[in-house]
Amino acid sequence: MDSNGRLILMAVHAHPDDETISMGGTLATYAAAHSATTDTYVITGTRGELGEIVIPERDTPEEHARLGETRMGEIAAAMAALGVTHFENLGFRDSGMVGDPGNDDPRCYHQHSTNDLDGTTEHLVRIIRRVKPDVIATYDDFGGYGHPDHIAAARVARRAWEVAGDPTWRPEAGPAWTPKKLYEVRTPDSQRDKVLALLESRGIESWWSEPKDATPEDLEKWRQWRAAMACPDDIITTRIDIARHLSAKRRAIQAHATQIKSDGPLLMLTEQDYLDLGAFEQYRLIDHRLATAPTFPESDLFAGLR
Ligand SMILES: [Zn+2]
Repeated sequence: MDSNGRLILMAVHAHPDDETISMGGTLATYAAAHSATTDTYVITGTRGELGEIVIPERDTPEEHARLGETRMGEIAAAMAALGVTHFENLGFRDSGMVGDPGNDDPRCYHQHSTNDLDGTTEHLVRIIRRVKPDVIATYDDFGGYGHPDHIAAARVARRAWEVAGDPTWRPEAGPAWTPKKLYEVRTPDSQRDKVLALLESRGIESWWSEPKDATPEDLEKWRQWRAAMACPDDIITTRIDIARHLSAKRRAIQAHATQIKSDGPLLMLTEQDYLDLGAFEQYRLIDHRLATAPTFPESDLFAGLR
């Protein structure tokens, strides 16, 4: 809670763009620009400097050399679109996708969190103890889709949830603060299937489309990966209606121009498509410290705290 009595959501992510794609509507919903009673903080672990550049004419060594800086500009523009005024970066190096040589760089988020989870977590705990969030939202254990930095972000957020309120844990990181709810953002199977059916009916390929010409082994691996990216509908506890923030979310997605293709699945669907599909961002409450057990389904991440 801040000094104005606003309840605070802290979203813990890996790279610039993840916050907008997975929970942009939620971030806008709770930003002080849209609510007198809540506020939103976005924390990103890395600057995403090993990301792909999806604009062919900008996919050059020079652009890659300054990609971290570019992406910090993109997230600033995205946050402006969503009305989010607080966002910070932990400053770890991007690890790259699974198998990328960046995975082995000792400066990367993956290596830091693997070799020294508490030392890595202290960076986030310092922010938690300063900002005093009531709710933390991050990824599931698979990091949404298996990217090493996403898995790192999820582990660091869970560890911070455990220790931030313990005054004996690294007291030099600030006075203890205990957040009350911890969420992971999820895609339920039914939503995945609906989005995929619509994309396929329009001939738009996505990461959920079955790869062509794959070997049987690769196809099986891909099927397992795709299954892990979504979850059974019945584990969803919380659905946030983002209908009124769809256009802001779209503008924020467009702000991440080097990462998100203008003719890719996220931007080829219209606002009306998203309304038809059900304009919700969905979560599972992983843990809480509420006096009274929550009742599900929830439509508000701050349910039980207001
Ligand atoms: Zn990412």
